[in-house]
Amino acid sequence: MNKNKFTPIANLGEFNLIDNLVSDIKINSSLTKMGIGDDAAVIPYLKNEDYLISTDMLVEGVHFDSAYTPLKHLGYKSIVVNVSDICAMNGHATHALVSLAIPNKYSLEHISTLYEGVKLACANYSIDLIGGDTTSSSSGLVINVSIVGKVNGKKITYRKGAKPNELLCVSGDLGAAYLGLQILERERYIFNENQNVQPELENYKYILERQLKPEARVDVIDILKKNEIQPSAMIDISDGLSSDIRHICKASNIGVKIFENKIPISSFTSEAAIELNINPTICALHGGEDYELLFTAPLAAQSKLEAIKDTHIIGHMTSTPFKIELITTSEQSVDISSDGWDSFIEKN
Ligand code: ADP
Ligand code: MG
Repeated sequence: MNKNKFTPIANLGEFNLIDNLVSDIKINSSLTKMGIGDDAAVIPYLKNEDYLISTDMLVEGVHFDSAYTPLKHLGYKSIVVNVSDICAMNGHATHALVSLAIPNKYSLEHISTLYEGVKLACANYSIDLIGGDTTSSSSGLVINVSIVGKVNGKKITYRKGAKPNELLCVSGDLGAAYLGLQILERERYIFNENQNVQPELENYKYILERQLKPEARVDVIDILKKNEIQPSAMIDISDGLSSDIRHICKASNIGVKIFENKIPISSFTSEAAIELNINPTICALHGGEDYELLFTAPLAAQSKLEAIKDTHIIGHMTSTPFKIELITTSEQSVDISSDGWDSFIEKN
Protein backbone atom coordinates (compact mmCIF):
# COMPACT_ATOMS: atom_id res chain seq x y z
CA MET A 1 0.00 0.00 0.00
CA ASN A 2 1.45 3.36 -1.00
CA LYS A 3 1.48 5.55 2.10
CA ASN A 4 1.70 8.71 -0.02
CA LYS A 5 -1.82 8.13 -1.33
CA PHE A 6 -3.26 8.87 2.08
CA THR A 7 -4.13 12.37 3.19
CA PRO A 8 -3.09 13.08 6.78
CA ILE A 9 -6.08 14.45 8.68
CA ALA A 10 -3.79 17.05 10.24
CA ASN A 11 -3.47 18.61 6.75
CA LEU A 12 -7.23 19.08 6.53
CA GLY A 13 -8.21 20.33 9.95
CA GLU A 14 -11.52 19.63 11.66
CA PHE A 15 -13.84 21.64 9.41
CA ASN A 16 -12.46 20.37 6.10
CA LEU A 17 -12.60 16.83 7.43
CA ILE A 18 -16.26 17.20 8.39
CA ASP A 19 -16.99 18.76 4.97
CA ASN A 20 -15.31 15.81 3.28
CA LEU A 21 -17.31 13.31 5.28
CA VAL A 22 -20.74 14.88 5.09
CA SER A 23 -20.91 16.91 1.87
CA ASP A 24 -22.85 14.14 0.05
CA ILE A 25 -25.24 13.36 2.90
CA LYS A 26 -28.86 13.65 1.83
CA ILE A 27 -31.84 14.22 4.07
CA ASN A 28 -33.87 10.98 3.98
CA SER A 29 -36.52 11.80 6.56
CA SER A 30 -39.21 14.39 6.03
CA LEU A 31 -38.97 15.06 9.78
CA THR A 32 -35.50 16.63 9.56
CA LYS A 33 -35.88 20.41 9.60
CA MET A 34 -32.11 21.02 10.01
CA GLY A 35 -29.45 18.32 9.77
CA ILE A 36 -25.68 18.85 9.79
CA GLY A 37 -24.27 22.36 9.73
CA ASP A 38 -25.40 24.22 12.80
CA ASP A 39 -24.92 24.01 16.58
CA ALA A 40 -27.77 21.49 16.81
CA ALA A 41 -30.05 19.56 14.50
CA VAL A 42 -33.75 20.49 14.48
CA ILE A 43 -36.64 18.01 14.43
CA PRO A 44 -40.25 19.22 14.69
CA TYR A 45 -42.12 18.12 17.82
CA LEU A 46 -45.37 20.02 18.23
CA LYS A 47 -46.92 22.70 16.03
CA ASN A 48 -44.91 25.48 17.65
CA GLU A 49 -42.14 23.51 19.26
CA ASP A 50 -39.09 21.74 17.84
CA TYR A 51 -36.53 19.38 19.32
CA LEU A 52 -32.87 20.38 19.22
CA ILE A 53 -30.25 17.63 19.25
CA SER A 54 -26.49 17.93 19.51
CA THR A 55 -23.42 16.04 20.74
CA ASP A 56 -19.93 16.95 21.90
CA MET A 57 -16.98 14.90 23.05
CA LEU A 58 -14.19 15.61 25.54
CA VAL A 59 -11.05 13.51 25.07
CA GLU A 60 -8.19 13.18 27.54
CA GLY A 61 -4.98 14.61 26.13
CA VAL A 62 -6.91 16.59 23.48
CA HIS A 63 -9.52 18.61 25.38
CA PHE A 64 -8.27 18.12 28.93
CA ASP A 65 -5.17 17.08 30.83
CA SER A 66 -5.90 14.79 33.77
CA ALA A 67 -2.88 16.26 35.61
CA TYR A 68 -4.70 19.51 36.34
CA THR A 69 -8.37 18.97 35.51
CA PRO A 70 -10.49 18.20 38.59
CA LEU A 71 -12.85 15.37 37.62
CA LYS A 72 -15.91 17.03 39.13
CA HIS A 73 -15.25 20.12 36.99
CA LEU A 74 -14.75 17.93 33.95
CA GLY A 75 -18.11 16.23 34.45
CA TYR A 76 -19.75 19.63 34.89
CA LYS A 77 -18.07 21.02 31.77
CA SER A 78 -19.07 18.00 29.65
CA ILE A 79 -22.73 18.92 30.18
CA VAL A 80 -22.22 22.69 29.91
CA VAL A 81 -20.51 22.60 26.50
CA ASN A 82 -23.54 20.74 25.16
CA VAL A 83 -26.08 23.05 26.81
CA SER A 84 -24.19 25.90 25.16
CA ASP A 85 -24.91 24.45 21.69
CA ILE A 86 -28.64 24.36 22.53
CA CYS A 87 -28.45 28.00 23.68
CA ALA A 88 -26.81 28.86 20.35
CA MET A 89 -30.04 27.76 18.63
CA ASN A 90 -32.06 29.98 21.02
CA GLY A 91 -33.39 26.92 22.85
CA HIS A 92 -33.36 25.31 26.28
CA ALA A 93 -31.73 21.94 27.05
CA THR A 94 -33.98 19.30 28.60
CA HIS A 95 -32.33 15.86 28.39
CA ALA A 96 -28.79 14.44 28.23
CA LEU A 97 -27.13 11.09 27.51
CA VAL A 98 -23.60 10.52 28.80
CA SER A 99 -21.23 7.94 27.31
CA LEU A 100 -17.88 7.08 28.82
CA ALA A 101 -14.79 5.19 27.62
CA ILE A 102 -12.71 4.60 30.75
CA PRO A 103 -9.05 3.54 30.89
CA ASN A 104 -8.09 1.25 33.76
CA LYS A 105 -6.05 3.92 35.58
CA TYR A 106 -9.40 5.39 36.75
CA SER A 107 -11.16 3.94 39.83
CA LEU A 108 -14.82 3.88 40.81
CA GLU A 109 -14.11 6.84 43.10
CA HIS A 110 -12.66 8.83 40.19
CA ILE A 111 -15.64 8.22 37.92
CA SER A 112 -18.07 8.88 40.77
CA THR A 113 -16.41 12.26 41.24
CA LEU A 114 -16.77 12.95 37.52
CA TYR A 115 -20.45 12.07 37.87
CA GLU A 116 -20.89 14.46 40.80
CA GLY A 117 -20.08 17.19 38.28
CA VAL A 118 -22.43 15.71 35.68
CA LYS A 119 -25.26 15.57 38.22
CA LEU A 120 -24.59 19.09 39.50
CA ALA A 121 -24.73 20.52 35.97
CA CYS A 122 -27.93 18.58 35.25
CA ALA A 123 -29.47 20.01 38.42
CA ASN A 124 -28.28 23.58 37.71
CA TYR A 125 -29.58 23.53 34.14
CA SER A 126 -32.77 21.53 34.90
CA ILE A 127 -31.77 18.65 32.65
CA ASP A 128 -32.67 14.99 33.05
CA LEU A 129 -29.91 12.46 32.48
CA ILE A 130 -31.77 9.77 30.54
CA GLY A 131 -29.09 7.33 29.40
CA GLY A 132 -25.70 6.76 27.85
CA ASP A 133 -23.14 4.03 27.33
CA THR A 134 -20.11 2.78 29.25
CA THR A 135 -17.05 0.95 27.97
CA SER A 136 -13.33 0.65 28.60
CA SER A 137 -10.65 2.61 26.77
CA SER A 138 -7.19 1.46 25.76
CA SER A 139 -5.91 5.06 25.82
CA GLY A 140 -7.42 8.12 27.50
CA LEU A 141 -10.75 8.92 29.14
CA VAL A 142 -13.45 9.91 26.64
CA ILE A 143 -16.69 11.62 27.65
CA ASN A 144 -19.36 12.03 25.01
CA VAL A 145 -22.56 13.85 25.82
CA SER A 146 -25.62 14.00 23.60
CA ILE A 147 -28.13 16.66 24.43
CA VAL A 148 -31.76 17.29 23.60
CA GLY A 149 -33.46 20.64 23.91
CA LYS A 150 -36.56 22.43 22.79
CA VAL A 151 -37.23 25.68 21.05
CA ASN A 152 -40.15 27.60 19.65
CA GLY A 153 -40.03 26.69 15.95
CA LYS A 154 -40.44 30.33 14.91
CA LYS A 155 -37.63 31.55 17.21
CA ILE A 156 -34.80 29.22 16.14
CA THR A 157 -31.57 31.04 15.35
CA TYR A 158 -29.46 29.40 12.68
CA ARG A 159 -25.95 30.43 11.70
CA LYS A 160 -27.31 31.37 8.28
CA GLY A 161 -29.69 34.19 9.26
CA ALA A 162 -27.35 37.21 9.43
CA LYS A 163 -27.78 40.10 6.99
CA PRO A 164 -25.48 42.98 5.94
CA ASN A 165 -25.56 46.03 8.26
CA GLU A 166 -26.89 44.05 11.20
CA LEU A 167 -25.20 44.38 14.57
CA LEU A 168 -22.69 41.79 15.77
CA CYS A 169 -22.97 41.15 19.50
CA VAL A 170 -21.28 38.96 22.06
CA SER A 171 -22.17 38.08 25.63
CA GLY A 172 -19.80 38.18 28.63
CA ASP A 173 -16.10 38.54 27.96
CA LEU A 174 -13.57 36.70 25.82
CA GLY A 175 -10.10 35.19 26.10
CA ALA A 176 -10.27 34.17 29.77
CA ALA A 177 -10.61 30.40 29.22
CA TYR A 178 -7.57 30.38 26.92
CA LEU A 179 -5.46 32.24 29.47
CA GLY A 180 -6.69 29.93 32.24
CA LEU A 181 -5.33 27.05 30.17
CA GLN A 182 -1.99 28.82 29.67
CA ILE A 183 -1.64 29.30 33.44
CA LEU A 184 -2.47 25.63 34.10
CA GLU A 185 0.09 24.56 31.49
CA ARG A 186 2.71 26.86 33.02
CA GLU A 187 2.12 25.52 36.53
CA ARG A 188 2.26 21.94 35.28
CA TYR A 189 5.59 22.67 33.62
CA ILE A 190 6.97 24.23 36.82
CA PHE A 191 5.70 21.27 38.89
CA ASN A 192 7.30 18.76 36.50
CA GLU A 193 10.62 20.61 36.85
CA ASN A 194 10.47 20.76 40.65
CA GLN A 195 7.85 18.74 42.52
CA ASN A 196 8.46 20.69 45.74
CA VAL A 197 7.00 23.85 44.21
CA GLN A 198 3.31 24.24 44.98
CA PRO A 199 1.26 25.86 42.19
CA GLU A 200 0.36 29.50 42.80
CA LEU A 201 -3.14 29.76 41.44
CA GLU A 202 -4.87 32.11 43.88
CA ASN A 203 -4.37 35.22 41.65
CA TYR A 204 -5.90 33.53 38.62
CA LYS A 205 -9.22 32.45 40.08
CA TYR A 206 -11.39 34.06 37.39
CA ILE A 207 -9.55 32.79 34.34
CA LEU A 208 -9.08 29.31 35.83
CA GLU A 209 -12.77 29.04 36.55
CA ARG A 210 -13.55 30.12 32.99
CA GLN A 211 -11.36 27.28 31.72
CA LEU A 212 -12.29 24.56 34.20
CA LYS A 213 -15.90 25.35 35.02
CA PRO A 214 -17.55 27.34 32.24
CA GLU A 215 -21.28 28.10 32.25
CA ALA A 216 -23.71 28.08 29.32
CA ARG A 217 -25.46 31.43 28.72
CA VAL A 218 -29.06 30.36 29.29
CA ASP A 219 -29.48 33.71 31.04
CA VAL A 220 -28.65 35.55 27.80
CA ILE A 221 -31.28 33.57 25.86
CA ASP A 222 -33.82 34.47 28.55
CA ILE A 223 -32.93 38.17 28.69
CA LEU A 224 -33.06 38.54 24.90
CA LYS A 225 -36.50 36.95 24.93
CA LYS A 226 -37.64 39.18 27.79
CA ASN A 227 -36.51 42.23 25.80
CA GLU A 228 -38.22 40.92 22.66
CA ILE A 229 -34.93 40.79 20.76
CA GLN A 230 -34.85 38.03 18.17
CA PRO A 231 -31.24 37.34 17.09
CA SER A 232 -30.99 36.74 13.34
CA ALA A 233 -28.03 34.35 13.62
CA MET A 234 -26.22 32.84 16.57
CA ILE A 235 -23.35 30.50 17.49
CA ASP A 236 -21.62 29.71 20.75
CA ILE A 237 -17.93 30.55 20.97
CA SER A 238 -16.26 27.20 21.45
CA ASP A 239 -13.38 27.53 18.98
CA GLY A 240 -12.68 31.28 19.28
CA LEU A 241 -14.31 34.50 18.04
CA SER A 242 -12.32 34.57 14.76
CA SER A 243 -13.21 30.97 13.96
CA ASP A 244 -16.85 31.05 15.05
CA ILE A 245 -17.72 34.35 13.33
CA ARG A 246 -16.42 32.69 10.17
CA HIS A 247 -19.18 30.07 10.48
CA ILE A 248 -21.84 32.81 10.65
CA CYS A 249 -20.28 34.64 7.67
CA LYS A 250 -19.99 31.44 5.64
CA ALA A 251 -23.51 30.25 6.40
CA SER A 252 -25.01 33.72 5.81
CA ASN A 253 -22.79 34.49 2.77
CA ILE A 254 -21.73 37.87 4.14
CA GLY A 255 -18.76 39.53 5.89
CA VAL A 256 -18.13 41.39 9.13
CA LYS A 257 -16.30 44.36 10.59
CA ILE A 258 -15.20 43.92 14.22
CA PHE A 259 -13.91 46.80 16.31
CA GLU A 260 -11.00 45.86 18.58
CA ASN A 261 -11.89 48.46 21.21
CA LYS A 262 -15.39 46.98 21.56
CA ILE A 263 -14.29 43.40 22.26
CA PRO A 264 -15.07 42.70 25.94
CA ILE A 265 -12.02 41.51 27.86
CA SER A 266 -11.99 41.16 31.65
CA SER A 267 -9.23 42.97 33.56
CA PHE A 268 -8.23 39.56 35.00
CA THR A 269 -7.70 38.34 31.44
CA SER A 270 -5.69 41.41 30.38
CA GLU A 271 -3.47 41.18 33.47
CA ALA A 272 -2.71 37.49 32.88
CA ALA A 273 -2.10 38.10 29.17
CA ILE A 274 0.37 40.88 29.88
CA GLU A 275 2.13 38.72 32.48
CA LEU A 276 2.48 35.93 29.91
CA ASN A 277 3.55 38.39 27.23
CA ILE A 278 0.54 37.72 25.00
CA ASN A 279 -1.64 40.40 23.40
CA PRO A 280 -5.05 40.27 25.18
CA THR A 281 -6.87 40.93 21.87
CA ILE A 282 -5.19 37.88 20.32
CA CYS A 283 -6.51 35.78 23.23
CA ALA A 284 -10.01 37.20 22.80
CA LEU A 285 -9.98 36.66 19.02
CA HIS A 286 -8.42 33.26 18.75
CA GLY A 287 -8.70 31.64 22.19
CA GLY A 288 -11.54 29.14 22.44
CA GLU A 289 -13.77 27.66 25.13
CA ASP A 290 -15.37 30.83 26.46
CA TYR A 291 -18.84 29.45 25.62
CA GLU A 292 -20.22 32.95 25.20
CA LEU A 293 -22.93 33.60 22.62
CA LEU A 294 -22.07 35.43 19.41
CA PHE A 295 -25.14 36.72 17.60
CA THR A 296 -26.40 39.21 15.07
CA ALA A 297 -29.44 41.44 15.50
CA PRO A 298 -31.22 44.13 13.47
CA LEU A 299 -30.06 47.74 13.87
CA ALA A 300 -33.46 48.55 15.39
CA ALA A 301 -32.49 46.53 18.47
CA GLN A 302 -29.44 48.69 19.21
CA SER A 303 -30.78 50.70 22.15
CA LYS A 304 -32.33 47.64 23.78
CA LEU A 305 -29.07 45.75 23.38
CA GLU A 306 -27.05 48.61 24.81
CA ALA A 307 -29.26 48.55 27.89
CA ILE A 308 -28.50 44.87 28.59
CA LYS A 309 -25.58 44.69 30.97
CA ASP A 310 -23.85 41.58 29.72
CA THR A 311 -24.16 41.87 25.93
CA HIS A 312 -21.80 43.98 23.83
CA ILE A 313 -22.07 45.28 20.29
CA ILE A 314 -18.65 44.60 18.78
CA GLY A 315 -19.21 45.30 15.10
CA HIS A 316 -21.53 44.95 12.16
CA MET A 317 -22.10 42.63 9.25
CA THR A 318 -21.02 43.69 5.74
CA SER A 319 -22.01 42.61 2.25
CA THR A 320 -18.58 41.24 1.23
CA PRO A 321 -18.82 37.45 1.57
CA PHE A 322 -16.42 35.92 4.11
CA LYS A 323 -14.41 39.12 4.66
CA ILE A 324 -13.56 39.34 8.34
CA GLU A 325 -12.11 42.74 9.06
CA LEU A 326 -10.73 43.91 12.38
CA ILE A 327 -10.57 47.66 12.96
CA THR A 328 -7.77 47.97 15.48
CA THR A 329 -7.61 50.43 18.36
CA SER A 330 -5.27 52.54 16.17
CA GLU A 331 -7.94 52.46 13.41
CA GLN A 332 -6.01 50.14 11.09
CA SER A 333 -8.03 47.67 9.05
CA VAL A 334 -6.71 44.11 9.31
CA ASP A 335 -8.05 41.07 7.46
CA ILE A 336 -8.02 38.36 10.12
CA SER A 337 -7.57 34.72 9.30
CA SER A 338 -8.94 31.80 11.26
CA ASP A 339 -6.66 30.75 14.06
CA GLY A 340 -9.34 29.24 16.24
CA TRP A 341 -9.00 25.95 18.04
CA ASP A 342 -8.67 22.88 15.83
CA SER A 343 -7.98 19.59 17.55
CA PHE A 344 -6.41 18.10 14.40
CA ILE A 345 -3.86 20.79 13.67
CA GLU A 346 -0.57 19.91 15.35
CA LYS A 347 0.54 22.58 17.77
CA ASN A 348 4.28 23.21 18.27
P1 ADP B 1 -19.90 22.80 17.43
O1 ADP B 1 -18.52 23.43 17.48
O2 ADP B 1 -21.00 23.79 17.56
O3 ADP B 1 -20.04 21.63 18.38
P2 ADP B 1 -18.98 21.36 15.15
O4 ADP B 1 -18.05 22.32 14.49
O5 ADP B 1 -18.41 20.30 16.03
O6 ADP B 1 -20.07 22.20 15.95
O7 ADP B 1 -19.85 20.64 14.05
C1 ADP B 1 -20.40 21.35 12.96
C2 ADP B 1 -21.49 20.51 12.34
O8 ADP B 1 -20.96 19.27 11.85
C3 ADP B 1 -22.60 20.10 13.33
O9 ADP B 1 -23.82 20.11 12.64
C4 ADP B 1 -22.21 18.70 13.73
O10 ADP B 1 -23.32 17.94 14.15
C5 ADP B 1 -21.62 18.16 12.42
N1 ADP B 1 -20.64 17.07 12.62
C6 ADP B 1 -19.47 17.12 13.29
N2 ADP B 1 -18.81 15.95 13.23
C7 ADP B 1 -19.60 15.11 12.49
C8 ADP B 1 -19.47 13.76 12.06
N3 ADP B 1 -18.42 13.01 12.39
N4 ADP B 1 -20.49 13.25 11.31
C9 ADP B 1 -21.57 13.99 10.99
N5 ADP B 1 -21.73 15.26 11.35
C10 ADP B 1 -20.76 15.84 12.10
MG1 MG C 1 -21.42 25.32 18.91
